[in-house]
Amino acid sequence: VLSASRRVLVRLPNWLGDALLARPLLHGLRGALPQAEVHAVAPAALLALLEPEHTFDRGHPWPGSGRARAALAAELRTWEPELALVLPPSFSSAWFAWRAGARERVGYGSDLRSALLTRALPRPERGELHLSREYLSLGASAGVAEPALPVLLATAPATAAAAALIEPGARTALLGPGAIYGPAKRWPRERFAALGRRLAAAGMSVRVCGSERERGDCEWVAEAIGAEAASLAGRTDLATQLALCAAAALAVCNDSGLAHLAAAAGTPTVVIFGSTSSAWTAPLGPRVRVVQRAPLCSPCFQRTCRIGYRCLTMVAVDEVERACAQAVA
Ligand code: SF4
Repeated sequence: VLSASRRVLVRLPNWLGDALLARPLLHGLRGALPQAEVHAVAPAALLALLEPEHTFDRGHPWPGSGRARAALAAELRTWEPELALVLPPSFSSAWFAWRAGARERVGYGSDLRSALLTRALPRPERGELHLSREYLSLGASAGVAEPALPVLLATAPATAAAAALIEPGARTALLGPGAIYGPAKRWPRERFAALGRRLAAAGMSVRVCGSERERGDCEWVAEAIGAEAASLAGRTDLATQLALCAAAALAVCNDSGLAHLAAAAGTPTVVIFGSTSSAWTAPLGPRVRVVQRAPLCSPCFQRTCRIGYRCLTMVAVDEVERACAQAVA
């Protein structure tokens, strides 16, 4: 019955990386239900990034206030969604789908929210199944199968904006030393700088990328590399950052939204994992290399470490440099 759904609501994750891991589900949904009208709910910046793929017909920005969320649920209720796929594991997202009046509500169950779902699936242990496949499984009852995943394309205006931020004609390496999640995902910035110096010595122009909150670390790394490097932290929106990734010859990042963006753009991408699980959330892309050392305590999924960040300090600059060479080969 779900495979005949004509109005489908998809509540996407709020994190950039997780939202990009939902792309296989969105593409698969288009393939399985070509006649369906699909509405997506997510933070506005993520909708803007995904809209050019046309995997959904309408995006609804996820409001900040409870009152605005109630108004959005009421608006969607008049649309009469037949099926809601609820990707975030939170109580509030299941509650939202219920308030939006979706007849069928599919998501992973938990004590608190299973009663709000009509199909509450048992969630695999973290790392047993890649997160993109967890999301895909939510669409299985609607006939969704795994699609071939295209690269995520940058828009023409964003490509022009990105071109102004890189050296014309140079091979650009992007470094992403940040990770908003916390220090247990951040490879030491001294090692990013050491790697950057090697890339610069190999003739690459280095751009250090991050959000405004990561400006301090990005500027420190760029200065430590020298004249061939510059920090772009806080100077790009998501669309421009995607275009920068697409224009780059290489990206080296912590396990962060930037790594997922570079991977989705098809850029050769090296991702350094710390406290989390690459089996669960490695970025999706045709040219991704993961570097993860896993001491016995790994993965702990903590934001900070009380025992010295061994999962990160065990990763040597040499090892990451080798992964870079393999990624670009
Ligand atoms: S407890 Fe282990 S896996 Fe977790 S952050 Fe510390 S060293 Fe890394």
